[in-house]
Order: sequence, then C-alpha cells, then structure tokens
Amino acid sequence: VSRETINVTQVIQRSISLMGEQLRLRLIEVKMQFPEEDIFVMGNAIQMEQVFINLLTNARDALTSAPTKIISIECIRRDEMIEISVADTGPGIPTELEQRIFDPFFTTKEVGAGTGLGLSITYGIIKEHNGAITVQSRLGEGARFLIQLPLKPDDD
Ligand code: ADP
Ligand code: MG
Repeated sequence: VSRETINVTQVIQRSISLMGEQLRLRLIEVKMQFPEEDIFVMGNAIQMEQVFINLLTNARDALTSAPTKIISIECIRRDEMIEISVADTGPGIPTELEQRIFDPFFTTKEVGAGTGLGLSITYGIIKEHNGAITVQSRLGEGARFLIQLPLKPDDD
C-alpha cells in the first residue's frame, strides 16, 4: 500500500461529501470542528477515507429512529498526535458489547443490513497507521469513536 502525506481535514471533508446525500435525506446534521491549520499524517488517503465512511455509515444507521440526529466530528491536536472524535446522538452501545464491535462479522443489524466488517476493517487501518481507536458510549446517550494518529514529523 502506498504511503503519502494525508491532509486529515480534506480526507474527512471528502468522506462527508461522499455520504452527504444519504445524510441529508435522513435529516442528519453534521457538525465539524477543526483547527485553523492543516493537519498532516502519513499513510494511505483512500484507506483513511474508508475509516470515516465506515464511522459515518454506522452513525447514519444509529440515527435512523433517533429523536435528535446529529453527528459531531472534532479534531484536536495534542503534541505530536491528532485526536479525531466522531460522535452521534443515537442509542449508543451497551457496555457489554463495546469489546466485541471491532470483531470481524460482529453485527447487531438484521441479516443483509450489515456485514459486521466495517469496524474491524477500520481498526486494522488505524493500527497500520500506528494509531488507536476506542469507543466511549453510554446507553441512550449516543456513541463516540476516538481515533488517535501520530502527526507527520516535521521535515525542516
Ligand atoms: P455493521 O455496521 O455491518 O453491523 P460494523 O463493524 O460497522 O458492522 O459495526 C458493528 C456493530 O457495532 C454494529 O452492528 C452496531 O451494533 C455497533 N455500532 C457501530 N457503530 C455504532 C454507533 N455509532 N452506534 C451504535 N452502535 C454502533
Ligand atoms: Mg458498519
């Protein structure tokens, strides 16, 4: 897999625009908060885009019958890391399932509605980029996925 300089803000914005129509049709609002300056990590932009498409797809599904339909994406720089959180106002994830959702083929969706592969692929991609992904959720209060990635080192 080729490694290149990835502009994180651009990748996230591209994923949102790819998902845009589906989110609009479901009256889902997307809120974004990014630092002023561009943020760069090393890796594969296509794979990184897949990460955000997977998280947005899950958030979309979680919001199907939620009274409030908001997805919030936040990017915060901490030292040599970037933290990206993707949160939704859906039903959340029961604590006892939190450890299993990253397993391949784990799904709570109806047969045919989900493959259960999205989060395991996402986990693998983040690991390959020397990062970490965790979930924080409180039942009834939505789910929040937190991604931490090392910033591209300064060359100069
Ligand atoms: P799939 O979407 O095909 O079910 P995933 O690997 O993407 O597979 O997700 C696995 C499971 O994790 C989902 O079936 C769902 O139970 C849970 N999940 C993932 N994201 C969310 C979310 N944002 N809110 C609630 N549950 C979620
Ligand atoms: Mg999924």
